[in-house]
Amino acid sequence: MPTVTREPAQEALQNHLGFARRSYYSRMVGLALGFVMIAAVLVQIAAPAWMWLGPALHCFVGPHVAWWLARRSPNPREAERCNLLVDHFLGGVWMVLMQFNLLPSVLAVSLLSMDSMAGGGVRLVVRGLVLQALGVALGVAFLGLHLQLDATRWTLLACLPLLVCQPILISLIARRAIHRLKQQSRALEHQSQHDGLSGLYNRSHWELLVRAEFARFRRQNQPAVLVMADLDHFKRINDLYGHAAGDQAISRFAAALQRVLRETDVCGRYGGEEFGLLLSMTSASDAREVLDRLRRNLHDQPLLDGVLVTASFGVAELTADVPTVEAWLRLADQMLYRAKHRGRDCVVALGEDTPSQPGALLPVPTRPSYSTPAALGDPLRVTQLLAGLEISEAPFALFDPSDRLAVANKAFLQMFAVPPDAMSFADVVRHSYTHRVGPRIATDDIEAWLRAADGKRRSQPQRNFLVDMCDGRWFQVFETSYSDGWLMLLLFETQPAAVPASAAVLG
Ligand code: GH3
Ligand code: MG
Ligand code: MG
Repeated sequence: MPTVTREPAQEALQNHLGFARRSYYSRMVGLALGFVMIAAVLVQIAAPAWMWLGPALHCFVGPHVAWWLARRSPNPREAERCNLLVDHFLGGVWMVLMQFNLLPSVLAVSLLSMDSMAGGGVRLVVRGLVLQALGVALGVAFLGLHLQLDATRWTLLACLPLLVCQPILISLIARRAIHRLKQQSRALEHQSQHDGLSGLYNRSHWELLVRAEFARFRRQNQPAVLVMADLDHFKRINDLYGHAAGDQAISRFAAALQRVLRETDVCGRYGGEEFGLLLSMTSASDAREVLDRLRRNLHDQPLLDGVLVTASFGVAELTADVPTVEAWLRLADQMLYRAKHRGRDCVVALGEDTPSQPGALLPVPTRPSYSTPAALGDPLRVTQLLAGLEISEAPFALFDPSDRLAVANKAFLQMFAVPPDAMSFADVVRHSYTHRVGPRIATDDIEAWLRAADGKRRSQPQRNFLVDMCDGRWFQVFETSYSDGWLMLLLFETQPAAVPASAAVLG
């Protein structure tokens, strides 16, 4: 499912704006209630009308100006801190206006300090108090020092709404901030333990869990199995279908793992297209059953549409003679290596003599009815050679001399369809001979078609190898694969300077 990801800078800006927005609401309520308190004192001391103007502007217009400034700022959190300092300063001036009426003045100091503590900590409180003292000094300089410390009953009553509501508001904001912090730290923790592409544990966390389980299994003598899994011929998947398709195969393989395994099993992406699995309370034979089911799934529901991607598995059961986690991991890795060596797409378990047959689940194509090259004689040998032959690993490939095109021409071009389950060059050849397929060229302008085809050519792989026609002729072949799954061979008859040593095997 596609997820919307925001840039970290944008995310931070949204967080800061959220903080400024919450401050905006609390400032509107707090200052409105503060005005009630100031108004009660101004009535008590029969202040002239002009004295009302400053507090009224600060309490009713101030919150909107503060929010406007925060929104415009590239750093709304910092702007909001400045707004709090302005509140402190004006609070100091209003204390002079209120002639230091005791309860309102104490409230102005303590509630503003609570705001600053929630918004910026001790440093902001200290800076706020300094500015508040400055406000007091400026107020005294302009208005003179008048003292009216006692409050009437009305003034006391007018302080109550602020006294009750403001601490509740501040604790609400602090609670929300704590909640957000917890969410962020959970997300960070998840990020640090998981792999972004597969969603499985990353290598370091997976190893940590394996270590913890290893100690437990040993202590309680519980059966457990470690599996190393690796996708087969993955370089070729990337080369033929692109890196994005490779990524998709990795994430779908991870999903397939999670479908087949239990919740208690611990899966991690060990690196690249290699995975580590820890199966608790499981024997090697149970693990084999599960992994064969997984292999079958990979065949029935290919990871990429129409492309078979197989995996090999190395299984090591925990026994008394496995001294450390490292040794256990090494054993599983060795088994994986053996599985690769045995032809891939199979499970090899430590101490078991019967690995699952390599490629046993591959659909076997019907043998094409072409004549066996006389030079090779034994049809079984041809099949073996075809099955084991890979252009990436062998200096030359086998070609059927009954191919009339090849026999009749000294240079020609041939297109092969790459079948969806192709894993080796032999698969391509077999498919091509079985179905006699090639691209339909819906134009007479072959040059134009070639130019268009060239545009689709992938830069990799592009290989150059020799072909033995088994009739004494050799062809130099340039092989190119195309992004839409075609393989093109350009063949030119040649006389190799030196016949590769392995020619003896074929001839
Ligand atoms: P083998 O069957 O022997 O495992 O052959 P292989 O081609 O899979 O060989 P190997 O395991 O050495 O190659 C792994 C390749 O996987 C190399 C690298 O290009 C590719 N790969 C590693 N990580 C990623 C990834 O995150 N995304 C994609 N698309 N490819 C990756
Ligand atoms: Mg691999
Ligand atoms: Mg690998």
